[in-house]
Amino acid sequence: MADTWITDITHFFDENGELIKEPPQARKLAEYFAAIIVMATYPDPEYPPEYRVACRRRPNRKPCQTEIAGWLDHETDDVVWICPKCQDKGIISNWQGTIWDMSNCEDLSTH
Ligand SMILES: [Zn+2]
Repeated sequence: MADTWITDITHFFDENGELIKEPPQARKLAEYFAAIIVMATYPDPEYPPEYRVACRRRPNRKPCQTEIAGWLDHETDDVVWICPKCQDKGIISNWQGTIWDMSNCEDLSTH
C-alpha cells in the first residue's frame, strides 16, 4: 500500500512566498502539488485538459502517467488526490489564497 502524502503547500514556499527552487527534486514535487491544487480547486468538474496532472510515480520503474483525480474535502477543506491506477494518494492543506487557488473563479462556474 502506498503511503498518503500529507502536504502543507506553504512548506514549499521560500521567504518570498514563491515555490522553492532548490533542491530540484523538491521543486519538482512543489510544482506537482501546485498543479494538483489548480486541478482540484477548479470550480467546474470539467476542468480544461491542460490542467490534467499525470501521476509521477514509477512503479516497477515504469512511469505511471495516469491522470490524477483530485477534489476538495468539504469537511476539512483540504485538497485530496489519488492516482486511480497505482493508488498513490495525498492530502494538501493551506492551499487557500495561493496563486493556484481557482476556487474564487466564480464566473467560470455560473455561466
Ligand atoms: Zn499512479
